[in-house]
Amino acid sequence: MDLSRTLAGIGAALLATALLANPVSAVPGGDPAAAPSGGGPAPVPGGGQTTRDFGNGPERNEIAALDDAAISALSARALTADTPATAWTVTRRKGFPRQNELPVWPVNPDDRSIKLGLIPYHLIAPKLNALQKASDRVSAEIVGKSAGGRDLYLVTVTAPESAAEAARQDRWRELIEEDPAAAKRDRSLKAGYKTPVWINANIHGNEWEGTDGALRVIERLSTATDAATRDFLKRSRVYVTVTNNPDGRVAGTRANGAGFDINRDHATSSQPESRAVRDVVIATQPFVMLDEHGYTGTTLIEPATPPHGQNYEYDLYIKHALPNALGMEKAIQQLGHPETTAADIPFRDYAPGDWDDWPPIFTPMYAIYQGAVGHTVEIPLQVNNAAYNNLPVEELQRRARINTDVAAATIEAALTYADTNRGTLLADQIEQFRRGWAGEPSPTIPDGFVDGFGPEDRYSATFPRAYVIPAGTPAAARLVDHLISHDVRVTAARSDFRLGGRHYAKGTYLVDMHQPKRGLANVLLEAGRDISGLVPQMYDISGWSHGLLWGATVDSSLRTLPRVSVTKVTRAAPTGAVDAPRGRDLSLSLRDGNDVRAVNELLTRGVKLRRTDAATVLVPAEARPEASALAKALGVRFTAARGHDRGTVIEPPVIAAAVSADELFALKEMGFVVQPVSTAILNAGFDLSAVDTLIVSSGLSYSALTPAARTAVDAYLAGGGGVVTRGATGANFNAAARVLPVTATAGRGDANGVVTVTNEGRIVGAGSPAHSFIYSPLWFTGTGVTVEQRYGTTPLVAGHWLPTDAGTNGPAQAAGQPAVVSGVTAGGGHAVLFGTEPLFRAHPKGLYAPYARALLWTAS
Ligand SMILES: [Zn+2]
Repeated sequence: MDLSRTLAGIGAALLATALLANPVSAVPGGDPAAAPSGGGPAPVPGGGQTTRDFGNGPERNEIAALDDAAISALSARALTADTPATAWTVTRRKGFPRQNELPVWPVNPDDRSIKLGLIPYHLIAPKLNALQKASDRVSAEIVGKSAGGRDLYLVTVTAPESAAEAARQDRWRELIEEDPAAAKRDRSLKAGYKTPVWINANIHGNEWEGTDGALRVIERLSTATDAATRDFLKRSRVYVTVTNNPDGRVAGTRANGAGFDINRDHATSSQPESRAVRDVVIATQPFVMLDEHGYTGTTLIEPATPPHGQNYEYDLYIKHALPNALGMEKAIQQLGHPETTAADIPFRDYAPGDWDDWPPIFTPMYAIYQGAVGHTVEIPLQVNNAAYNNLPVEELQRRARINTDVAAATIEAALTYADTNRGTLLADQIEQFRRGWAGEPSPTIPDGFVDGFGPEDRYSATFPRAYVIPAGTPAAARLVDHLISHDVRVTAARSDFRLGGRHYAKGTYLVDMHQPKRGLANVLLEAGRDISGLVPQMYDISGWSHGLLWGATVDSSLRTLPRVSVTKVTRAAPTGAVDAPRGRDLSLSLRDGNDVRAVNELLTRGVKLRRTDAATVLVPAEARPEASALAKALGVRFTAARGHDRGTVIEPPVIAAAVSADELFALKEMGFVVQPVSTAILNAGFDLSAVDTLIVSSGLSYSALTPAARTAVDAYLAGGGGVVTRGATGANFNAAARVLPVTATAGRGDANGVVTVTNEGRIVGAGSPAHSFIYSPLWFTGTGVTVEQRYGTTPLVAGHWLPTDAGTNGPAQAAGQPAVVSGVTAGGGHAVLFGTEPLFRAHPKGLYAPYARALLWTAS
């Protein structure tokens, strides 16, 4: 029997026990230590380490983010749209090599790679510079900067090409995507197109050896003198993003410098590291890609278990992914290390749900939508976290050497697979894009299509004929620019039109689903699916719909393409305006994160703002120049204030925040100035007296406060200080500090997805979207509060949320229950408690403004 499978089973059983034991009780009143920890334990496939940390790991609820230069620098981007125009693209009109002298970074003796005997970040540029000098097969360039400002390198290894030859390769690559039928007929393309393979290394900063293994392969390819290698490079282009996470490589962290897991960010693109590799995969259109990770005890090589993403052309994927994985397994066996005698191939070895490829947030899954056969590879031997600190250096370096061997062997094997099967890989990439253009349904895959393919592997989506996105809001513009930056084609109607009984104005955006990357378009825009009943557990988020969570109206037309002439959109049209006669006071409705950003910018500039309700801000007529500038920069719309509106003055809110890194990032995106706090910071005597509102969602435990700090918190609350909480940490604080008289009940810790909500309150609930996002959801019972939002009657639209074995704490129990409540504290302050996840990983942009309204209300 396969050992890994046994271990996976044991891991799953332990997990199930832990999940049932843990997060299902109501929040006890007094002792937060016993209260519901929302974040259930992570599934541990293979019985080894958790390599796909669940829900961003403990950081999400237990560690408060500190103010961080990386976050500040990044969030200066604000919520403005993505910028496809400045994204990296393949250089035109140049042959290969395209060599660049990479800037060399200062020596950093604290680089965590050094202890492992691996290459520190500061030696990568010198190494690549030397390789370029030594070989005309190697080109290196910078394709972006990390959150912490470090260079992201792309290496291309290929036989030299003249400018004309490189241009022909570009034309062929475009032809494959733009006109697959013509590409299929083109014999010179078939003979001459260089097989593109992309290796992404070190996306998790403390999973180091992908970088070292890739560099070994680059070096071999660039220096080998044998005919086979020379011929291989005439037929191939090997692209390597040498480290996708230099901040984490240096610091020995999974996350980048802004605290984000980049391998969860591909559908959101909030981080520069994920945007850089998105641009690389679009520009290079690889047939095969590997994402090198660690450490699973036994080497793990995808393809994954079900549920499989329902928008893949899965037949075209699995027919290559499985044999490629088998080839990689053979390659590590041939290394001869006792630790590499076999690999875990989840598709072959694991139970459904143990290692799925459902969400498009992982690099290889994202890459499938861009035409690649994508694989996560997990090298075996742990050298990070506790092992890094506790094992002898010799043992760490021994492990790192084996891991490097495994990384290099999997890369070599994948190159061999791609080269050997270049004809069918080309034909199948062409076929993927052809089906998209033709609007053909994805074919039903028969049992046994590859070894082990059965009914449990069969997933498919019904593609609508078109999506329709009314223009004019910052949310619509943001979504459209996001789609375009992901190479989804968007057009705009040149005149008004009707569809499905609805009238749409000229300028309305259309996503014609007859397009090469329709799978990607659909996986972003569709609602998604409730998969709770299909598998017992999932690895990470199971719902993410941009159509439902990003604040834009997204309609779909199942069968009809609107009869209207269109123009191609390369950038969403501006949406900002000041629609008011000169001399009139202005009104701004807080419907989008950019509206909030505009308010914060005006406050920063000393403009005297007032508000008439939680969602409406008045701007004095004399601030019109500032308003005009913000309308232009942020796409927000000011209208004329009604003459009799007076409102109450808004002071710049003083916010203390015990929040996770993603929340801190989202708060800064909206322009809030926040002072990070935590249990430790309050215990060190942080002065709360000037604070208007305190956010508690991560790393602040009332019971862990010193008596003095507790007294300070009590005094803050007694004095009318505001409070906003999120999740279990927030609910615990609410109970322990007696903020609002409600109790929280927790759904299963791993429950997540898109839910329906009904809006009732005038703060969070005022005109908010009918959908929200949950992760370890809570609901509230008690009296004396206002219900802002309730879970819908059948709350889960898309995602995974099971009840306990006893049938409790599931979506049926949450139905109709308060998801967000507001109220007045005993001290007279305002408080709002969230059982939902409005800022999760900076993703659900449409939930930002409701959250911000809560923040502004509690600060007032
Ligand atoms: Zn990883």
